[in-house]
Amino acid sequence: MERMYINGEWVKSVSGEYFSSYNPANQEEIGRVPRGSKEDVDLAVKAAKTLFESSEWQLLKPSVRGNALFEVARKVRERSEEIALVETLDTGKPLSQARSDVESSARYFEYYAGMADKMFGETIPVAPNVIDYTVREPMGVCAQIIPWNYPLQITSRGVAAAIAVGNTVVVKPAEDTPLSALKLAKIFFEIDVLKGALQVVTGYGTEAGAALVDHQDVNHITFTGSVHTGTNVMISAAKNIVPVTLELGGKSPHIVFPDCDLEETVTWVTRSFIQNAGQTCSAGSRLLVHSKMKDELIKKLIEKMQMITIGPGVSDCDLGPIISKRQFDRIQAMVERAKEEGARVIIGGKEAKVEGLEVGYYFEPTIIENVSPASEIAQEEVFGPVLTVFEFETEEEAIQLANGTAYGLVTGIWTNDISRAHRIAGKVKSGQVFINDYGAAGGVELPFGGYKKSGIGREKGVEALQNYTQLKNIAIKIKSAK
Ligand code: NAD
Repeated sequence: MERMYINGEWVKSVSGEYFSSYNPANQEEIGRVPRGSKEDVDLAVKAAKTLFESSEWQLLKPSVRGNALFEVARKVRERSEEIALVETLDTGKPLSQARSDVESSARYFEYYAGMADKMFGETIPVAPNVIDYTVREPMGVCAQIIPWNYPLQITSRGVAAAIAVGNTVVVKPAEDTPLSALKLAKIFFEIDVLKGALQVVTGYGTEAGAALVDHQDVNHITFTGSVHTGTNVMISAAKNIVPVTLELGGKSPHIVFPDCDLEETVTWVTRSFIQNAGQTCSAGSRLLVHSKMKDELIKKLIEKMQMITIGPGVSDCDLGPIISKRQFDRIQAMVERAKEEGARVIIGGKEAKVEGLEVGYYFEPTIIENVSPASEIAQEEVFGPVLTVFEFETEEEAIQLANGTAYGLVTGIWTNDISRAHRIAGKVKSGQVFINDYGAAGGVELPFGGYKKSGIGREKGVEALQNYTQLKNIAIKIKSAK
C-alpha cells in the first residue's frame, strides 16, 4: 500500500480511500495508491505555496538548487533497474524502453540542474540616465498533469525544469500509472534542500486532476494528454488567468522519397510507430510515400513486422501490451471503422494472442492503406501500433498531406536531396522536423511541442524554462550629480 507525498511527508488520502494499479501484461494488481481528492489537492497546493513563499526557499542560491537536482539525477541512475522495472510493470512497455525512459529522466534532472544558475536577464538601453534590466522570476506553484504513456519521463521533464528555476510543484500522475512518480518522490524525500518542493497526489483525473487545475493558488499548469481533456484544462486555467503548457499528441507523418536510405527509413518508421505499442504522442503514424517506391517500402515493412516479437514488458519483446481495455477497444474500433469505410489492412489489424497471457490486451503491428485523407483513421490519433499509408507524386502533394490534419507535432523527412529536405522542412506545420532521423534519441535538449491542436508552448531544451518563469522589467533613474 503506497502513500502520497505532500509537504515532505508520506500521507494517506483524507478520505482514506485507495485504488489499484494493474500490470497491463496480465491484469495483475501491482500496487494500491491513495485516491486523492479535492481536500488532498488543497493540502498539496498549500504546502507548495507555503514553501515557495518561505524565506528558506526564496533565499536558496540557484547553484544549491541546481546541485540538489544533480543529486536527483545521480540517484535516479543508481536505482535505474528498480525504477525501470516498476515502469515496465505499470505501463506494459518493454524493459529496454523503460530503461531508456529512466535514462531520459536522469538527463532531464542533469540538464535543468545545469540551468538553475543561468537564467540571465538583459539590460535595455532606454536613456543615459536610466538603467533598465530584466529578471526572470519563477511562477510559483506549478501543477503538472501526467499521462500514462511515459509517466516517469514526462514527470521528470516538467518537475526538473520547474524546480530548477525556483518553482514548487504538485504532480498528479495518471490513474493507470501512478507508481514511478512515487519512486521519484522517494528520491526527493532523501534530499533535504528539496523537502516540500515536490508533492505527488495520486488520484483520478475527474477528481484530483480537475481539483488541481481549478485551484486558485496554482500559478502555472502543464498538461500532457488528449485534446478533449486539454481543452477542459484550458477552460479551468482561463477562469483563474493561469498560463498553460499543453502537449496534446499528434498524427505525425514520415515523408519518404525514392532517394532515401531504405534500410534506415524502414528501421525508423517501424520504431516510431511501434514504440510503446504506438502509445506515443510523437508516433510517426502516417507514412507518406512517393508512388515510385511505395511497393518496395511496404514489402520491407511487412518483412520487419513479421519479425516483431510481442509479449509482456518484462520479457523485453519489441511490442508490449496496450495500457488498458479502454484503450485497446478504442484502437480496435478505429481500425474496424476504417475497414468499413474501405481501408485495406496490409498486415495486422487485430488482437495479438500471447500464449499464457490471454488476459492482457495485445494488438498486432498494423499497416493500413486505401484510406481517404479525410477519414477518422487518417485524422485522429489512434494511440496504438497502427501505421496508415498514403501515396504522393509531387513534393507539393506530400506537403499538403503532411499538413492535412488538425495536429502538428513532428515530421520525418527521408531523402538524400538536402535542398528538397530544407524546402519541405520550411513548409510543414510541426514543432519538430527530423531529416533522415526521428526522435534524436529522446532529445532532452530539443524544444518539443506542437503547432495547431498538438498544443501550446514548448517543453524540453532551454526553451521550456520560458514556461516556468515570468519576466520582470526594472528601471532605475540615475540622479545627476549636484
Ligand atoms: P486524458 O487526457 O484524459 O488523461 C491524461 C491525464 O489527464 C491523466 O492524468 C488524467 O487523470 C488527467 N485528467 C483526466 N481528466 C481530467 C480533468 N478533467 N482535469 C484534469 N486532469 C484530468 O487521456 P486518456 O483518456 O487517458 O487517453 C485518451 C486519449 O488521449 C488516448 O487515446 C490518446 O489519443 C490521447 N493521449 C495522448 C497523450 C500524449 O502523450 N499526448 C497521452 C495520453 C493520452
